[in-house]
Amino acid sequence: MNPALKNLLRPHYIDLQGYVSAGMESDKSAEKIFLNANENPYELPGLEGFNRYPEPQPKSLAAAYANAYGVKPDQIVMTRGADEAIVILTKLFCEPHKDAVLTCPPTFGMYGVDAKAMPADVLEVPLRKTDGTFTLDQKAIVNATFTPGQNIKLIYICSPNNPTGTSFPHDQIAEICRETEGQAAVILDETYAEFSSQGSMTSSLADHPNLIILRTLSKSYAMAGMRMGTFLSADTDFIALVKAKALDAYPLPRASVEAALHVLSDDIRPLAKANVAKLIEERNRILPLLQKSHYVKYTYPSDANFLLVKMNKAEEFVKFAAENNVIIRDFSTKPGTENCIRISIGTPEQNDVVLKLLNDFE
Ligand SMILES: *Cc1c(COP(=O)(O)O)cnc(C)c1O
Repeated sequence: MNPALKNLLRPHYIDLQGYVSAGMESDKSAEKIFLNANENPYELPGLEGFNRYPEPQPKSLAAAYANAYGVKPDQIVMTRGADEAIVILTKLFCEPHKDAVLTCPPTFGMYGVDAKAMPADVLEVPLRKTDGTFTLDQKAIVNATFTPGQNIKLIYICSPNNPTGTSFPHDQIAEICRETEGQAAVILDETYAEFSSQGSMTSSLADHPNLIILRTLSKSYAMAGMRMGTFLSADTDFIALVKAKALDAYPLPRASVEAALHVLSDDIRPLAKANVAKLIEERNRILPLLQKSHYVKYTYPSDANFLLVKMNKAEEFVKFAAENNVIIRDFSTKPGTENCIRISIGTPEQNDVVLKLLNDFE
């Protein structure tokens, strides 16, 4: 394993004996009688196959992900959504009461929540607001990482960032990886990469041994209900260690695996891609229309499937929309997004309802 990750792992993981499940021991594809996992042999109608535990990390699905993300199957850990990937990485790297993670708020809340559950400290290096957009404070991130006593193990960068919609330049993320190599791992959350113009950094994984990338089928593939995500690293020994020692026995539900294989198939993937293009088109259509409202002070540029909108009367508008059966997320009381709401991009008809509500709001 590359020292850039190995030296950051909580040391007991090196010698830990992971659980060996019945699913790992035997090849389920063969015609055999399976009496090794206390499964029930009687399948029920409409639920065929569900009597058997699923493969822990199905090879066919790893191949499909590898094809979609442009990596090798042994660079992938498959998880229950990107959310579970964050839990696993926190558990692997953060020694309770000793280590810390770094986040750049306003950003996704789960990085901090999972760290505090260890408990590990959360050091915040807020995004800077420059020229109507948000930027990473690269110097402050690197300085914090090298401050003695802070023990920062994970640097979370979300790009495009939730809730601001901002993409951070790949060059800059690459520099942060280089500058912190050996000291911390950079967890790049690319949940919204499919909606962005610069795309994913998966092709740079080999250049950065301390880079771990999170991907998910939830948003761009319309699969939030199936809970299917991944994390990716160039270090195949690290990936193998995670699979052997840090996962639940049967983490991926059979139905979710089947749905993921279906959505990544040649039949469905182009449809998902076309829908992403539609959402981007809608995002670009409604941005200037939102700005026409005198309640809208500013609409942040977005590379994701949502818009962060600074408003007069943000809280009141969210309430007004809810009264009219449109649910919008209020960010107005959170540091860095004062007076802001976040609107997910819907269908053209749904977006038109939002625009009409803004028009009717007073
Ligand atoms: C939605 C979201 C996630 C969670 O994704 P799941 O795969 O559904 O768990 C992770 N990160 C960010 C930034 C998100 O917005």
